[in-house]
Amino acid sequence: MNPEQIQSIRKDFPILAEEVYNKKLIYFDNAATTQKPRCVVEKIAYGYYHINANIHRGVHYLSRQATEAHENARQAVASFLHAAKREEIIFTRGATEAINLAAFSFGEAFCGEGDEIVVSAMEHHANIVPWQMLCERKKMKLRVIPVNGRGELDMAAFGGLLNERTRMIAVAHVSNVLGTINPVDEIIGKAHAHDIPVLIDGAQALAHIPVDVEKLDADFYTFSGHKIYGPTGVGVLYGKEKWLNAIPPYQGGGEMISNVSFEKTTYNEIPFKFEAGTPDYIGSTALVEALRYIEATGLDKINAYEHELLTYATGRLLKEIDKARIIGTAENKSAVLSFLIGNIHPYDIGMLLDKMGIAVRTGHHCAQPLIDFYGIPGTVRASFAFYNTKEEIDIFIDALKKAVAMLT
Ligand code: PLP
Repeated sequence: MNPEQIQSIRKDFPILAEEVYNKKLIYFDNAATTQKPRCVVEKIAYGYYHINANIHRGVHYLSRQATEAHENARQAVASFLHAAKREEIIFTRGATEAINLAAFSFGEAFCGEGDEIVVSAMEHHANIVPWQMLCERKKMKLRVIPVNGRGELDMAAFGGLLNERTRMIAVAHVSNVLGTINPVDEIIGKAHAHDIPVLIDGAQALAHIPVDVEKLDADFYTFSGHKIYGPTGVGVLYGKEKWLNAIPPYQGGGEMISNVSFEKTTYNEIPFKFEAGTPDYIGSTALVEALRYIEATGLDKINAYEHELLTYATGRLLKEIDKARIIGTAENKSAVLSFLIGNIHPYDIGMLLDKMGIAVRTGHHCAQPLIDFYGIPGTVRASFAFYNTKEEIDIFIDALKKAVAMLT
C-alpha cells in the first residue's frame, strides 16, 4: 500500500485525528484493541435508529428485520472464516467467552478424571484459565508446550505431550506478546493423527492473516470483534457441526431452549443452543461491516504493509536504541514489537511515551507464565495496524530516545 492509500484509510478512522496532551495521537496498541472505521460506527447508529427490536421472538416487522440482520451477519462471518455452515458460527461476547464456552461444554461432554488438556507456554490467560478451571473441576491435568528463546513453540516437545488421555489442544494462532505466528496447520495435523481435537485462539490472527477454518481443519476457532476493527462486546466461536451438536449448552435461558417445563427442558438446535439471552444483534451486524472493510482493503495487502512497518520499526529500534532487546524474534511473526531497554522498567517507558502522545502497552499482557519464562518484569509492546505509518514510527523512535535519556 502506498502513502496515499494509507492517508485515505486513516481518514476512515476519525479517532486517529485526535490529539492527546496537545500532541498528535500515535496509536500503537492495536493488539489490545483496534480503532473503528466510520462505517462500523455508522452501522451501530443505523441499527439503533432503524432496526432495533429484540430478535427471534417477535412477529412484528422490526423484530423480523433485526433477526434477519443478525442471521445475515452469521452467514457473513461463516463466509469470512470459510466455514462450511452458518450454524457453526456462535456469537459470544468475545474470544474469552468463546473459549470459556468451548472449555466448559466440551469438558462436560468429553472429559473425565485423569484426562489431559494441552495448551502452550505463550497463551493469553483467556486460553489458560478456562482449561485450568476444567482441570480443577474434573481432576484433570494441564500440560504445556514449551517455547524456545525466540518465542517459537517447541514442536518436538509438543509431539511428546500427546497420549491417549489428551482430550484437547488449545493454542493461539498468533501470540499477543511475541507476535509469533504458530504452525497451527502442523499442530492440527499431528493432533488429528491422534484423533485429538484442536481449538485455535485466533484473537490476534484474524485482523492480519487470512484464515480458512475448513482448510485448516480446526475443530474450534475463536476471535473478538474489537480486535478486528469491529465493535467491542461481540465475538465468535466457530465449531465444527459435529462437536457443537455433541456438547451441551453453556448458559441457560432465552432462545437456547426448545421446550421448558419444570420437569424437563429440551434445547434448541445449533447455533441457538449456545446463544442464551438476547444476543448483541447490533454488534454482530456492525462486526460484518468491519469484515467487509478489511476484505475490501485486502488482507494480503494489509499483511504485507504491516510487515513492512514491523521490519522498519525493528531495524530502527535495534540500530538506534542502545541496549534495546526484542522479546519475540520468531521467523514467522505478525506486527507486534515487544521490547525492553536495558534495566528500565517497561512501565516507566510507557508512561513517558504516553506523555508524548504515543499509546503503547506495558506489562505482562495477560500472559504471565510467558513473562515468567523469560524472567522479565514485562515488556513494552508496540503493535501495528494498517493505518499506522513509518512517520509515526520515526516519532516513536525519537520519543524512545528522549525517554531513555530521562530514565538513565
Ligand atoms: N487471546 C489472545 C491471544 C488475546 O490477545 C486476547 C486479548 O488480548 C484474548 C484472547 C482475549 O480477548 P478478549 O478480551 O477480547 O475476549
